[in-house]
Amino acid sequence: MYIVPEHEIAALITRKDSFDAVEKVFASMAAKTACNFPVIREAIGHADALYGFKSGFDRQSLNLGLKSGGYWPGNMAKGLTNHQSTVFLFDADTGKCRAVVGGNLLTALRTAAAAAVSVKHLARADARVLGIVGSGHQAAFQLRAVAELRPFERIVAWNRTPEKLASLKAVAAELGLPFDSVSLADLGAQADVIVTIVSSQAAVLKDAHVKPGTHLACMGTDTKGKQEVETALVARARLFTDEIAQSVSIGECQHAINDGTVPQSAIVELGAVINGTHPGRNSADEVTLFDGTGVGLQDLAVASAVVDLAIAKGVAVKVDF
Ligand code: NAD
Repeated sequence: MYIVPEHEIAALITRKDSFDAVEKVFASMAAKTACNFPVIREAIGHADALYGFKSGFDRQSLNLGLKSGGYWPGNMAKGLTNHQSTVFLFDADTGKCRAVVGGNLLTALRTAAAAAVSVKHLARADARVLGIVGSGHQAAFQLRAVAELRPFERIVAWNRTPEKLASLKAVAAELGLPFDSVSLADLGAQADVIVTIVSSQAAVLKDAHVKPGTHLACMGTDTKGKQEVETALVARARLFTDEIAQSVSIGECQHAINDGTVPQSAIVELGAVINGTHPGRNSADEVTLFDGTGVGLQDLAVASAVVDLAIAKGVAVKVDF
């Protein structure tokens, strides 16, 4: 088996590799040739940690395995990131462990790639202003990935604490794009594409903020109880997701489903658009919303790509196991 350490990953995988891996596995999920298994997430009663794993199998790529890890709130003080994860890949023919791969950077890359895939398939071709709601760890990855998908001319961003937008502003400068810190009302009035990537228990972006024709990638809600956008906005939008089972239980759509505003049948897997079995956006005025909940198969897809790249470049550590 191979080990690909966390510190090797940045030099191995590109955003394009991540995008291609995620687009392919979303297509396989919608074609029912790939399946995520039920997610486990538990408070372990030690170090205030939340631990769990996400697993699945893709019969097209033969990616089989799991991502295991979670959230250790005391890690910062130890010089580590609070989110920790590791991907384990298994040989689908024998069940033997094929690889162990650092999962921290990959999580950010695969999450940003999911938003970018949604922008490719759902945003208007004439989108020119990109809005980012949030400026935590994931936000810069989102900005870099999504900015590549349309000829954006400007970035507008909002964060609860505006001074924390400095890191996003620096990324925008690197990309050569003007950057404005704005109110949510101004962000919604100007942005043609909006990525929401906050960790909130109540709607931040309101229905009235968002203009017709906008594409939203709601990426922050990945747990029961979290919410980024008002239910009325979910009800107004044409809805897409990575996986319907997660969208209605832990994703942004959970609230609209729970209060009966939206039926489950209104939510379409993005993979169906990629496969051409769903037309996607219907009109230039329609609001489209991608509920990116984060599935285990995304992790396996990017981890498998990294293993192949690491073997090719001679940096995978081979272990007799
Ligand atoms: P982070 O802790 O680094 O940043 C949190 C962000 O949320 C900051 O911008 C903060 O200002 C904002 N925020 C927190 N509470 C808020 C509130 N009540 N109102 C408005 N804004 C608030 O987190 P991160 O690593 O950037 O992750 C952001 C979210 O994305 C988290 O909810 C995380 O669980 C989720 N996430 C989702 C996926 C996925 O696949 N969908 C993957 C990774 C992370």
